[in-house]
Parts: sequence; C-alpha cells; structure tokens
Amino acid sequence: MSEGILLVLSAPSGCGKTTILKQVMAELPGLVFSVSHTTREPRAGEQDGQDYHFVDHQRFKSIRDQHPSGFLEWAEVHGNYYGTSRQDVEERRAEGKDVVLDIDIQGAEQIRKSAAPVTVFIAPPSLEELERRLRGRGTESEESLEIRLANAAREMKAAASYQYLIVNDLLPVAVRSLQSIIIAERCRGRRDLSGSPLYL
Ligand code: ADP
Ligand code: 5GP
Repeated sequence: MSEGILLVLSAPSGCGKTTILKQVMAELPGLVFSVSHTTREPRAGEQDGQDYHFVDHQRFKSIRDQHPSGFLEWAEVHGNYYGTSRQDVEERRAEGKDVVLDIDIQGAEQIRKSAAPVTVFIAPPSLEELERRLRGRGTESEESLEIRLANAAREMKAAASYQYLIVNDLLPVAVRSLQSIIIAERCRGRRDLSGSPLYL
C-alpha cells in the first residue's frame, strides 16, 4: 500500500484553521488529524486526546528526549510547548491514511527537512479581521491575545514558503479550496477522491 500524504497546515491563531479543518474532515474520508501534545491549558470544550494530549512540562520533556526522538517536530509557540508524535504519524501514513498536521511555522520548517509534506498556509483577510475573530472566539486572556496578534504579523511573512495559500474570507470557499488541494494531491498519487489506490 502506498504511504499517505503528510498535510501541513499553518495559520495565525484565530484565522479559522480549526473551523475549516473540521468541515473538511467531516466531508472528505481518509483523513486523520494528528493530535499534538501541548503544555497549554485546555480551553472550555476541548477534550484531552481529541483536540490535544494535554501534558505537563515534565512529560513533554520526557517524550522529546526519547530516542529515536518521540516527536517528529516540536516548538515553543505563544509561550507554550507543542509537539507531534512521530510514532502516530508514521503508523497512520503506513496504513495509507492522509495525516493532517495543524502546526506552527517553526514546526513546518522542521518537517520540510525530514519529509516531503504538502504545505498549506491559511491567512486571514486582514489583521483587523483576525483580531475580531480572536476576540469573538472569547477563549484568550488579554495577555494571550496580545501575544498571538504580535506573532501573527511575523507568521504571515512565512506564507511564501508554503506550496498553497488560502485566504479564509468566506468560510465555504476556504473549505472548498482545502478539499480541492487534498483531492488534487490524491490524484497526483494515483488515488481516488477517498484516498484509495486506483487500479492502474
Ligand atoms: P484557529 O483554529 O485558526 O485558531 P478558529 O477555527 O478557532 O481559529 O476560528 C476563530 C474564530 O473565527 C471562531 O470563532 C470561528 O467561528 C471564526 N471563523 C472561522 N472562519 C471564519 C470565517 N471565514 N468568517 C468569519 N468567522 C470565522
Ligand atoms: P492553539 O494554542 O491556538 O491551539 O495553537 C497555537 C499554535 O500552535 C497554532 O499555530 C498551532 O498550529 C500550533 N501547534 C499546534 N500543535 C502543534 C504541534 O504539534 N507542533 C507545532 N510546532 N505547533 C503546533
């Protein structure tokens, strides 16, 4: 069986990446979300093992220091640590599943060096709209909000290093764009829309 795609998605916080991804995954079969480990506190409604593996600093360090490395990539983002389990990703790809990584620009840089990912950057229509969305979500303290907005301008500069760019203005358009990218990449790998190998 051919190995699944490694899809790397990055966006400034509050841009709508989680919203887009949930819709895409609900409609397109064969995609697996890579659940990251993080030292950040869970938000209301977030579930351990589903949104993230919520761990303390000690546990994060012990995974990071496993040899060969327990993390495919890891980074400090907005003052917290985040990492992607190497074993989870490799096992799912070996099963032929397309694995989606929702990771920041530092993590994407690391993955580019060790694998051949499909990379997608999602940008907000403007920084003003990004702030409206982040405030509207109501999950961040004023301090966390300031950090995320300050980092957004820097993160946007990395957009040029990604293969695809989606501006999340109208949500259905952004959802369709991401679905189209995944379907096109499956066709490149001689697989059908659901990710199964074609007969020729
Ligand atoms: P991220 O995962 O990138 O941090 P979220 O998916 O949590 O962002 O979205 C941030 C907020 O913006 C949420 O309240 C979400 O409902 C809203 N949102 C997402 N996409 C759009 C859009 N296209 N237009 C308006 N609001 C949006
Ligand atoms: P949030 O705290 O809003 O869920 O995520 C903050 C940022 O961390 C986002 O840019 C998100 O993509 C990134 N992130 C989430 N998981 C990982 C990971 O495993 N590795 C890296 N490098 N970044 C991650």
